[in-house]
Amino acid sequence: AAEVEGVPVGALERHAELAELAEEANWRYYVLDTPTVSDGEYDAWMRELRELEEAHLSLRTPDSPTQKVGAPISSDFTPVQHPRRLESLDNAFNDADLAGWQARAERLLEADPGPYLCELKIDGLAIDLVYEKGRLVRGATRGDGRVGDDVTANVRTIKNIPHRLTGDGIPDRLEVRGEVYLSVEGFHKLNEQLVAAGKPPFANPRNSGAGSLRQKDPRITAQRDLSMICHGVGVWEGGSPRPEAQSAIYERLGAFGLPVADTYKVVESLTEINDFIEYYREHRHDPVYEIDGVVVKVDRIEAQRQLGSTSRAPRWAIAFKYPPEEVNTKLLDIQVGV
Ligand code: NAD
Repeated sequence: AAEVEGVPVGALERHAELAELAEEANWRYYVLDTPTVSDGEYDAWMRELRELEEAHLSLRTPDSPTQKVGAPISSDFTPVQHPRRLESLDNAFNDADLAGWQARAERLLEADPGPYLCELKIDGLAIDLVYEKGRLVRGATRGDGRVGDDVTANVRTIKNIPHRLTGDGIPDRLEVRGEVYLSVEGFHKLNEQLVAAGKPPFANPRNSGAGSLRQKDPRITAQRDLSMICHGVGVWEGGSPRPEAQSAIYERLGAFGLPVADTYKVVESLTEINDFIEYYREHRHDPVYEIDGVVVKVDRIEAQRQLGSTSRAPRWAIAFKYPPEEVNTKLLDIQVGV
């Protein structure tokens, strides 16, 4: 068969086709907040892209969708450079993927990577907050990881995001990462209102949350019942030193008045990680927000530092994804029909 620099033309063409589909989907999902394919379909494209690149390494160029985070930002907001790059997460879809992640971490560290922090993967919108001397000075979306949309005015309308931090040892400069979401109940209510007003409904809570935060008029954002949960930090300068474990960082953030989940758990072994994953597979709908999986993180910050990151995701964390649920696709059909 015909080849270009050792890559069969068929593989080359399929790669180009999938890359274009993924770029288009990214634009609709991240910038327009109105996806036209299901997450399951998108994930299948990305899996095929990764497999093609695994087989033909020259296809893995820096501009491949497999190497990037999110999508370039829209022109509706002022672009802001993040103090530290925001990343995505690598995915595990089964026990073997998870065990593979753990084994790689163990090999790289030449030690047991545990303990691990298990937490829920909120299907929301990533946000980066900057506090200076305890005052909220900026909120920005993830964008492509380096540059995001400035949504400070909108973020200020979110009730559980403090405008001022409280307590002792507040850093001079603190960057907090988290997820902004609309509760499942809030999503249904909003869709009822939209339909009653003759407007198209959102496909799922994730898109309704993202669409509500990325409004040009913050007064509209203020009417939507958005919340936030913290899941990481970037810059931490001055004040009391940054704690040495992810779980201890969450405790500090909570003490500063920031919203942290009460569902995370620190465990020692792969078996216990699997128990957490199985528990929430059964109790997926217990939280007020939608979850699409569980995030497992190496708890010790020193081990995180040693493991580092790939071009788009940390090696010290993994997202275990549950299979997508039917309901999303059905709602998507309705929306596409509008
Ligand atoms: P991701 O959603 O797989 O995971 C990374 C994100 O998870 C982080 O940026 C963070 O914001 C979030 N997160 C939630 N809870 C977290 C926690 N406890 N700790 C750390 N992070 C947490 O990756 P992504 O790059 O944001 O998006 C890719 C996914 O988005 C795809 O797998 C697909 O499901 C969906 N997507 C769908 C379409 C579509 O057209 N349907 C297009 C693009 C992306």
